[in-house]
Amino acid sequence: LKHVDILGVPFVHTTRSQFVEQLENHINAEKKAFVVTANPEIVIKANEEPEYMELVKKADYVTADGIGIVKAAQLLNTPLPERVAGYDTMRDLLQLANNNKFRIYLLGAQQETLDKAITEIKREYPSTDIVGSHNGFFDWSNNEIQKEIKNAQPDLIFVALGVPRQEKWISQNLDYFDKGVFMGVGGSFDVIAG
Ligand code: UDP
Repeated sequence: LKHVDILGVPFVHTTRSQFVEQLENHINAEKKAFVVTANPEIVIKANEEPEYMELVKKADYVTADGIGIVKAAQLLNTPLPERVAGYDTMRDLLQLANNNKFRIYLLGAQQETLDKAITEIKREYPSTDIVGSHNGFFDWSNNEIQKEIKNAQPDLIFVALGVPRQEKWISQNLDYFDKGVFMGVGGSFDVIAG
């Protein structure tokens, strides 16, 4: 996929459906991927904090989360096809998982929110295989969670730790895993939980 640079952040030139297909290819090939869905706040943060920019640049794909990014691309004369927002993409991936019986792991949010989100996902996407979950309030120096995730062999790992924690956690731990599409999803579990 081609890229469009906006203030140093390399956005993938893709529609949402093309992008979901691309991730499906990763899953079928058991190839890892790190996805950042970047909104304007993320682009600004990356420009203010070089260490955050480094994390974002480690991602395999940065998508245009929101109309602000699409507008900016247009103004820079390097248009992007459409927005590829985190929440919508997560929904598409849940549907994909439902159709293909992909294995899902959910990391993040308060326990109560996480439980509600899982109930809702099971209701809406009954064929999705949720192979594990953990709330987002854990000791990062303890690697039990990494081990648990690795053993669960998920195809898709949604990481809802907020910005920049989720990007930090994914980039710090990605090497340890054999496979999986890792995507930071911010407050999406809260939205799904309702
Ligand atoms: N969160 C978490 N661990 C933390 C801090 C936050 O799991 O140490 C969760 C929080 O419960 C919420 C999500 O991360 O479900 C998004 O948090 P926030 O709204 O602060 O982040 P943003 O929306 O700015 O990315």
